Amino acid sequence: VHLVVVGGVAAGLAAASRARRLDAEIEITVLEKGDVVSYAACGLPYLIENRIRQPEQLVLHKPDFFLRERDIRVETGAEVVEIQPQRQTVRLQSGKTLNWDRLILATGARPVHQWPEHPRLFALNTLGDAVRLHKHLAQTPPGRAAILGAGYIALETADALRHRQWRVTLHHRSADLLHRHDKELTRRLDRILNAHHIDIVHNHEVNDPLRLDADLVVVAAGLRPNSELAAQARLELGAASAIRVSPQMTTSHPNIYAAGDCAEVVHLVSGRPAWIPLGSTALKMGRVAGANAAGHRERFGGVVGTSIFRLCGLGIALTGLSAEQARQHGFEPVEVWIEAPERARYFRGRTAAVQLVADKRSARLLGASIIGQDGVAGRINVVAAALAGRMLLPDFVNLDLAYAPPFSTPVDPLLVAAQQLMKSC
Ligand SMILES: Cc1cc2nc3c(=O)[nH]c(=O)nc-3n(C[C@H](O)[C@H](O)[C@H](O)COP(=O)(O)OP(=O)(O)OC[C@H]3O[C@@H](n4cnc5c(N)ncnc54)[C@H](O)[C@@H]3O)c2cc1C
Repeated sequence: VHLVVVGGVAAGLAAASRARRLDAEIEITVLEKGDVVSYAACGLPYLIENRIRQPEQLVLHKPDFFLRERDIRVETGAEVVEIQPQRQTVRLQSGKTLNWDRLILATGARPVHQWPEHPRLFALNTLGDAVRLHKHLAQTPPGRAAILGAGYIALETADALRHRQWRVTLHHRSADLLHRHDKELTRRLDRILNAHHIDIVHNHEVNDPLRLDADLVVVAAGLRPNSELAAQARLELGAASAIRVSPQMTTSHPNIYAAGDCAEVVHLVSGRPAWIPLGSTALKMGRVAGANAAGHRERFGGVVGTSIFRLCGLGIALTGLSAEQARQHGFEPVEVWIEAPERARYFRGRTAAVQLVADKRSARLLGASIIGQDGVAGRINVVAAALAGRMLLPDFVNLDLAYAPPFSTPVDPLLVAAQQLMKSC
């Protein structure tokens, strides 16, 4: 059996490695069009910040590691340009053709806008993008930077450049930070940005980034799935043109799987397909695709839309749906924002802002946002678990959460928010 994997980063290598762990005999080839595999894209903003000083620190393994340790052949500079599902082959840019018995697509995502190359214009999607910007920053004194976009990558990039004394302005086509349709969240993030001298221009559609008054421009305005190969092979596409997959990660072709940023997921709160490209999800999808391609039967149930990032020394974390998103999915949402100390005041506890959203009709918990300094990841993960378990607010409010003065307060901020929200349910 020959398993061919297209894409050599998170999902592709998780899939290949899992297939090998479950089957020592299967032949495995990973085809990657770039010249680097197995790197941590999530660390790219910290290279820009200069917290991580060498790009090589973000490369986990080189191709020879996979051959030596896992008997997986990894080919770089190997771009697949066509899938022939009937003949079970892929054709490479080089003209070479490879046969497969099972195929896994892990082709990732790319920026929506591709601008012509220009010395002042940067992206932050791949390691190559980050290396280019990192080199530029090393050779250029701090000046004015413009960033296009309002997702977490745009905000992380703004924060990284601010750390390096650049004067940063974010330009965003709407007035909705993090695409959450949440005015209060946007207002709170605006306040944080302003307090740290990062300017933001809402409702500004930038048609030509080079006309912005800035010494460098980073475009981080939207991604789209790399699903063209799948479309050309007539595989079914779904949310946001990502590849439609079953919980076993099979596409509409029984021997072709897809995983990671190129594929859609099920959102367990809305119950609908969604496209939420994240590394944490890509690894899980990859493992399941690899296991099933190796003849096992595993499933990936879906996500609740949990994410976290750092901004100006704070953790910003989200899970589930905002109230407006919940309304769009047919719920009758009620929400609350509270501010409460993260730990005992005599332990210099700072204030965290916590938002909870629930459905008024069923009292089911639907989502949360947390902005704070300590324990943000732990708290959002509690809500994520509650969402995955379809927990109701009256059960959530009594959760037995850990307390000691250095870590929390006797009534955790999450439970303070839940108590408040109970009044609206
Ligand atoms: C700056 C930044 C910060 C991030 N931070 C976080 C974070 O904090 N937390 C988090 O969970 N996620 C984060 N992510 C997202 C995370 O990195 C991605 O979700 C993850 O890399 C997706 O993995 P993947 O394997 O699906 O796709 P990718 O990592 O995009 O890899 C796909 C690979 O396929 C290759 N490929 C595409 N087409 C072909 C072809 N035709 N032939 C051969 N090869 C092909 C590409 O060259 C690419 O190397 C971040 C991403 C970026 C860019």
